[in-house]
Amino acid sequence: MTIRLAAPLQMDSVVDGFGVRTVIWTQGCSHNCPFCQNPQTHNFEGGCDFSVDEIKEEIKNLKNQDGITLSGGDPLYQIEPIVEISKYAKSLGLNVWCYTGFLYEDILKMGEKNPKYLELLQYLDVLVDGLFVNELKDLNLLFRGSSNQRLIDVPKTLRFKKVMLIPESDGIMEKFTEKKEVTFI
Ligand code: SF4
Repeated sequence: MTIRLAAPLQMDSVVDGFGVRTVIWTQGCSHNCPFCQNPQTHNFEGGCDFSVDEIKEEIKNLKNQDGITLSGGDPLYQIEPIVEISKYAKSLGLNVWCYTGFLYEDILKMGEKNPKYLELLQYLDVLVDGLFVNELKDLNLLFRGSSNQRLIDVPKTLRFKKVMLIPESDGIMEKFTEKKEVTFI
């Protein structure tokens, strides 16, 4: 199995979720949000194919990373390899964040036709959902570009069967940095 990526894995990011993270930049997105920050990732023919087995090997050898972040592009256009990679990262004890232009509710609907979308949710810690809306751009937001986008606590959302957001209270970053993990409940 292969996955089309815009770039090799990027380690040591501190802006794509809590802690120190490795970002997987997927290639391909047809949402066409005006003023998207990564237009070079839109073309589904761009980027390069990478072996999922090799990506998993790289993930296994990561040092000093709190988790992986799936970004792009939109990772959900490549659901099979994304599920495989997420499941593997989770099995190693890494937490998994995913950015997508789709809404959580869209993913549930897509899961009615392809259960892989629902399987993905089992491996996600945080889903950052929604299109980038330039009119709602706010540089003060935590880990997202526009205020319509949501930081969704996926395990809690699945448990309560309704969208549960990560609280953006003062000190949430400090809490994570001290403990290296956060319990959102
Ligand atoms: S979903 Fe993300 S990558 Fe796709 S156009 Fe919107 S901002 Fe850009």
